[in-house]
Amino acid sequence: MGNIISLQQCGNHFNVTREYVRQVLVEYKIVTRHNPVKPAAPKPPKLTPETRLQKRKAQFWSQINITPNIDECWEWLNGCGEGGYGNFSIGELGIHAAHVAAFMFTHDTKPQHWVLHRCNNPRCCNPNHLYDGTPSDNALDRERARKASGKPLRRKPKPPPSNWSEIRKRYQNGESSTQLAQLYNVHQTTISRWLVKYAD
Ligand SMILES: [Zn+2]
Repeated sequence: MGNIISLQQCGNHFNVTREYVRQVLVEYKIVTRHNPVKPAAPKPPKLTPETRLQKRKAQFWSQINITPNIDECWEWLNGCGEGGYGNFSIGELGIHAAHVAAFMFTHDTKPQHWVLHRCNNPRCCNPNHLYDGTPSDNALDRERARKASGKPLRRKPKPPPSNWSEIRKRYQNGESSTQLAQLYNVHQTTISRWLVKYAD
């Protein structure tokens, strides 16, 4: 190995500044200006879909208030979305509610229809309170819950107004829902709702 010369000496030798020599050395990665380059940390091994799901499963059950009594509701402890159902997603399976995830993690399969609650508690994730049911099962469940709670039956939907064919014709002939609302003394949103509801 030859003599090591300083940047200053090198600059003098080539009749350039010390700074110029440094820039060249940095550019060709012979020296690094500030921090030496650290070797990249080894990447964690990629999770297989199965391991990822196992991890998600553990995360899921840790957010449920699991009681020793199997008859009690096991409630979701975190945020809830529309309808009061727990927010929990398993993107790759297209699951976006906690009770559906509870069903999936218990039976290792997605439901054929809807995951319904026997207990009528949307927050509940107790697998013993959940079942795979059709929309008509859901309606029956709701009716059963209504009877049990003693609530009156919801009002039947209103029939269209007697002059509906006239209103619709005027709308089809170009009058706006606002104009018609004023004419028939109802709110504009009522006209819009009728237009959707009684479209046929
Ligand atoms: Zn329950």
